Amino acid sequence: MKKNTGEKTRLLPALIFFGITVLLFISLLIVKTFPEASETISTGFSRWWIGVFGGLSSKVSFSLFEFFIYLCIFVIICFIAFWIYCGVKKRGRAALKSLIVFLIIVFTILNIYTLTASFTYMRKSPDLIYAAEEEPDSQKLYELASYFIEDFNILAENFEKDDSGMFVNPYTVNELNAIFQEEYRKLNSSYLFTYTPPVKEVVSSVMMSELSICGIFFAPTGEANINFDMPAFYIPVTIAHELAHAKGAMQERDANLFAYQICLNSDNDFLRLSGYMSCLSSLLSAVGFVCGEEVYNQLHDSLSEEYFVQWSLYYEYWNKHSSLAKIQEFFNDLYLKLSGVEEGVNNYYIEDEVIIDNNTNEVISFEYNDIQKIFIYIYNEKTGL
Ligand SMILES: [Zn+2]
Repeated sequence: MKKNTGEKTRLLPALIFFGITVLLFISLLIVKTFPEASETISTGFSRWWIGVFGGLSSKVSFSLFEFFIYLCIFVIICFIAFWIYCGVKKRGRAALKSLIVFLIIVFTILNIYTLTASFTYMRKSPDLIYAAEEEPDSQKLYELASYFIEDFNILAENFEKDDSGMFVNPYTVNELNAIFQEEYRKLNSSYLFTYTPPVKEVVSSVMMSELSICGIFFAPTGEANINFDMPAFYIPVTIAHELAHAKGAMQERDANLFAYQICLNSDNDFLRLSGYMSCLSSLLSAVGFVCGEEVYNQLHDSLSEEYFVQWSLYYEYWNKHSSLAKIQEFFNDLYLKLSGVEEGVNNYYIEDEVIIDNNTNEVISFEYNDIQKIFIYIYNEKTGL
């Protein structure tokens, strides 16, 4: 009898602490449904946390996030081994207590993640910084598309390539960090948090490639982790994308638009090359809808061969490496939906805003989408039109 009372007493503090972590988690989920509270917590707490912990983790050369993942795997294995041991030795109460401790750890991590990252998903999307108001006619659209294609062709043909023909990243991680610090300063968005953390190269880039991951921002450590193993032209848009997350734009579409604005408007050749590789297809789509198929074909054919070579090398790389892509996509979709992004992984894509008659194939209505508006704005700025 005495023994039983003693064991119950030892379980009670763990149960109380577990109850507190669960209650806190439920409370945070309820608060998250109020947009104004989410904005306040994002800009008042998450911003502060990312600034402090991003600043601290930037003093460490390796990725704390990567270390955290390995630590989690190790801890889970230890708990499983202990539960097996308890099963063999018939120590049910010890197994129960360790399960409560395990759940306390899980809910504590969930609470920290929710406070530092999840509220930011609920922020209202920002307006574009580089957004053209005008809707160019077919002649102007043709001229501006020709302007960007010519700039791309000069860059692509002169850019350094490796033995396989793939573009080469000409910078070290530190040099890229200095470039992006300056680019985000130049963008000067009032929506974004002021602090721009340095990005980190993960040790397990190959594993990231197998999971088909280009980059991950982890708010609790304030770190933007980049896969530097992937095709080089995708590195600048990925860095700009992950840094946008770190600076308060958690929605994938918003982070992409920040990345495109930065890369397409940059004076840096590597960044502009990356922006063009990611966005020229959207500009050409607009040409197709506004100027017609003949003009589309003419401009498409005027693209440097390098455009097609690089995309083919890009797909070749991912076909070879992304063996676990489906698993990653499933969990990313689930994670985004649980974070309040209803469309899941479709949140990455910026579609054409067009309605086409299915029978005649004629364009019924067309509006420039955000990528196309960025091109128009930059063209007007650069040419003074
Ligand atoms: Zn992202």
